[in-house]
Amino acid sequence: MKIIIHGGFFSESEQSNEVKIAKQNSLQKIAYQAFEYLQSNSAIDTVAYAVSLLEDDELYNAGIGSQIQSDGVIRMSAAIMDGETQKLSGVINIQNVKNPVFVAKELIKEDDRVLGGSGAKKYASEHGFEDFSTEIPQRRKEYEAKLNNGGKGTVGCVAIDKNGKLAVATSTGGKGFEIPGRISDSATVAGNYANSFCAVSCTGVGEDIVSNATATKIVTRVTDGMSLENAFNKTFEELKTIDGFAGAIAIDKDGNVYHKDSYPTMVFASFDGKTFEVFQ
Ligand code: ASP
Repeated sequence: MKIIIHGGFFSESEQSNEVKIAKQNSLQKIAYQAFEYLQSNSAIDTVAYAVSLLEDDELYNAGIGSQIQSDGVIRMSAAIMDGETQKLSGVINIQNVKNPVFVAKELIKEDDRVLGGSGAKKYASEHGFEDFSTEIPQRRKEYEAKLNNGGKGTVGCVAIDKNGKLAVATSTGGKGFEIPGRISDSATVAGNYANSFCAVSCTGVGEDIVSNATATKIVTRVTDGMSLENAFNKTFEELKTIDGFAGAIAIDKDGNVYHKDSYPTMVFASFDGKTFEVFQ
């Protein structure tokens, strides 16, 4: 059993040392809580739980604390993928729900598994998800000052459970000041992908991640026999050729845990019951 989570990027030039310490503490705490949860729950339930904790923490650009888009509205996207069944489900540009990841998880039961905009919200309302504003005053201030630095904090989790099953979930408020209707990578197979060999969650510039098909490529390469490290290196080399910017976390079927990012630092924490690794 192992878990790795990320909380997007941290930029020394745009964010304070206090925010860095707060993120280190928060990620360590959530990795621990999620690992405890994993003791008696499946990987798919655990990734949803871990991402919901990250969505509830206003330090991150997902759920509560999501950034406000160019037209003053918050739209969130989240996806979850079960490595065993290879079912991906997700919501794109959903408004006014507390935990987009739980709506994504509810959708895994359906034949139609990725819903966008008003359809996603309607589905959520019909399935008991109450109206909830995820706006916080700090994000409104940043929006009014036209500052695009609050949004570093897409979140994700990859877990392997006691039966060796892999799962991944990713959630975001978007990249900031996007054209309304823009689609993030987070609820696509480029940003969030798993099979029974490997599971990957990405953060970074969604357009770059989609162009590079980052999560899918890493998983495919590992499935075809490459090590996690080589799969990450090759995929990130390809990302460089389009001047792309991303970070990713992963676990493979043997329980190897890996992460890599373009500069600046992706914030992450992993826990295997004995050792914590936290970004520095
Ligand atoms: N990947 C997200 C997006 O482009 C943003 C991020 O990870 O910071 O929507």
